Amino acid sequence: MSVVSVAGLPAVARPRLTRLVVAIAMTLASGVLAAQEVRTDQVPPPQDTPYVGTVTLHVDASDTAQGIFRVHETIPVKPGALTLLYPQWIPGDHSPTGPIAMLAGLKLSGNGKSLIWKRDKYNVYAFHLDVPAGVSSIDADFQYLSGRSDDFEITDRMMDMEWSKVSLYPAGYFSRDITFAPSVTLAHGWQLGVALETASQSGDTITFKPVTFNNLVDSPIYAGQYFKRVDLNPGGDAPVHLDIVADAPKYLEITPEQLKVHRALVTQAVKLFGSHHYDHYDFLFSLSDQMGGNGTEHHQSSEDGLGADYFTAWSDNAPERDLLAHEYTHSWNGKFRRPADLWTPNFNVPMGDSLLWVYEGQTQYWGFVLTARAGIWTPQQFFDALAMVAANYDRNREGFQWRTLEDTTNDPTAARRSGLPYRSWQMSEDYYSGGQMMWLEVDAKLRALTHDHKSLDDFAQAFFGVDNGSYVTKTYTFDDVVAALNTVAPYDWAAFLHAHVDTLNPPLQNGLAATGWKLVYTDKESDYEKQYNSRPEPSRHLYNFAWSIGLTMNDKSQVNDVRWDGPAFKAGVSTGATLVAVNGKDYSTDVLKEAITAAKDDQTPVQLLLKYQGGFRTVAVDYHGGLQYPHLVRVEGTPDYLSQIIAARK
Ligand SMILES: [Zn+2]
Repeated sequence: MSVVSVAGLPAVARPRLTRLVVAIAMTLASGVLAAQEVRTDQVPPPQDTPYVGTVTLHVDASDTAQGIFRVHETIPVKPGALTLLYPQWIPGDHSPTGPIAMLAGLKLSGNGKSLIWKRDKYNVYAFHLDVPAGVSSIDADFQYLSGRSDDFEITDRMMDMEWSKVSLYPAGYFSRDITFAPSVTLAHGWQLGVALETASQSGDTITFKPVTFNNLVDSPIYAGQYFKRVDLNPGGDAPVHLDIVADAPKYLEITPEQLKVHRALVTQAVKLFGSHHYDHYDFLFSLSDQMGGNGTEHHQSSEDGLGADYFTAWSDNAPERDLLAHEYTHSWNGKFRRPADLWTPNFNVPMGDSLLWVYEGQTQYWGFVLTARAGIWTPQQFFDALAMVAANYDRNREGFQWRTLEDTTNDPTAARRSGLPYRSWQMSEDYYSGGQMMWLEVDAKLRALTHDHKSLDDFAQAFFGVDNGSYVTKTYTFDDVVAALNTVAPYDWAAFLHAHVDTLNPPLQNGLAATGWKLVYTDKESDYEKQYNSRPEPSRHLYNFAWSIGLTMNDKSQVNDVRWDGPAFKAGVSTGATLVAVNGKDYSTDVLKEAITAAKDDQTPVQLLLKYQGGFRTVAVDYHGGLQYPHLVRVEGTPDYLSQIIAARK
């Protein structure tokens, strides 16, 4: 996946559960739980053995008006007990996010007679039934009801369909041992991008060649009325395409310069890794102000969702532009090479996320670097983007006083990208950007240890670049990472990594100095940061005062986040409060900026009038450091590794 935002997640009030919690507590206190009762589900564990036959799956995905996906499956079976599973642990999400509540209308039948199913007592994703004698296949019909208020998966112009949401599969088998013959019916006249191979097409119904359930779940469909397929690797040995669906035809226009830098992304990635792990690769790219944003990795494709004007407002959207490089890197880092505890035999076995600081952290690192090497970012845009990341680890991650970087790998499961009232203290998935800062230091250290002969590029080739052409997942452990680093340059890498990922208050700022640069703050935002603050959701119109008085504001005049123990926090400002007035004047971002600047000179506190929960309150923020926005500057007399890192490979 891609990281949600550099500055922080939007603050969304969580439901108040006080009464529910009290009720549960009373139940437990007065209840009697038999000591011998073991609360486990009755789902057969997966075995690595071929399934009895091919499951046929058809999805009618043509309902653009009501967003209902209608599913029909025919599943070969043997008489006796059978358990069907709805995928729960979703690759790329790293968490149990399968939307089971959106499955509805489930009907099972055999030989035309309906069969009774019963959900597992302790596993809401499992459906049990008894297959009668004489029944060799069962039919399953159900609907997947896509969201109708936001994060749309289908509009009247385009669709993103993930097979994990529209399929049930038999329990008891590795998902790679179950073969599916999938087909889909699209809205009339729509075209599609997908990594699957087409077997036949009849009207708007496309039948694909049979694949394992693993590959099916790994091969989502993007389809739309306005579609364009762009060759990003002409003459290369493995085709790479940009399959674009857009809100309107005008958003499909690509300038020659834009085409050139997106093609350079492919050549730079292949030069970096020295390999590829796909027969062909498709960026499934939605440009829409209606569809939900997305960034989900697959072996031979990726789901990439950005605003409609990605190409047409190119000069305003630099902060969006590392998405494609990030998801493409995952074909090597995450899909082909995967942490052993994250690999699972099917989609209903829990994942272990402990090495996401490699899977996502180093992908975040290469996402930035490849975006710059390809020319999708200018060097200055790269420096300004990195400055914002570095600033968060300089003064906006107080949570490292109680959590380690590795502990944040639990966030996909624990927090699931929900709103957080105190982001800097709770932290959220910091293995992405904190990991990126650590890998920057590793890159600099490899260069210094080898007197500029080796770098993290050599690690990438040795670790991710092996077995060219293979897309059979190859797992690794912490010790494998250490061993691969040692082949590039011997060092106590185990101690180094532990000090960064497994220790409180890790030294995530070291990489900047080691690459010849340092972080400074001025009272002026970089052009990149100005664009960042106006980029599409989730951070549209987010005004960032995190590094000065310690808060961010949303475009509804509400406090989006308050930095823990920062000046605004100490004054008593709460996330979610509406800022009504600053020093007696109507609030606007300019008025707040002027007040922060004035407080630097006159040494009087900034007075904030807040409205929250129906009451008004004035607080005095005792802060006199002026506006603070991050930038990187060179440390003269030291090697400029950072410029070398982002230079295009010849
Ligand atoms: Zn990712």
